[in-house]
Amino acid sequence: MHEMAVTEDILRIVTEHAQQAGASRVTDIYLVIGEMASFVDDSIQFYFDALAPGTLAEGATLHFHRIPTRFRCRHCETEFAPTGRDWLCPTCGALGGDVIAGKEFYVESIEVAEAEE
Ligand SMILES: [Zn+2]
Repeated sequence: MHEMAVTEDILRIVTEHAQQAGASRVTDIYLVIGEMASFVDDSIQFYFDALAPGTLAEGATLHFHRIPTRFRCRHCETEFAPTGRDWLCPTCGALGGDVIAGKEFYVESIEVAEAEE
């Protein structure tokens, strides 16, 4: 996964929403990132700091909300959270399953400052 392209997407989404809301600037950006989405918070912060100046999002604080991984066993439909490298179903011992949470990546919300009249 490429954090720079992802950060550009975040910035585009955020500044579009801020413009539509008539905001003068974005103060906070809340991101949801699944554990399995291999984005590194520090890298996103790094690219954000590099790309945000000159946009409405300059100086905004990034908040990262990590969603833990959850699997659903294909054999017995037990839902479970894999621990470390142990991805065995705790009920029947089958390996892995369908990922039902942990791949999320989206902008949950933003906070903006109103444009001054
Ligand atoms: Zn199972």
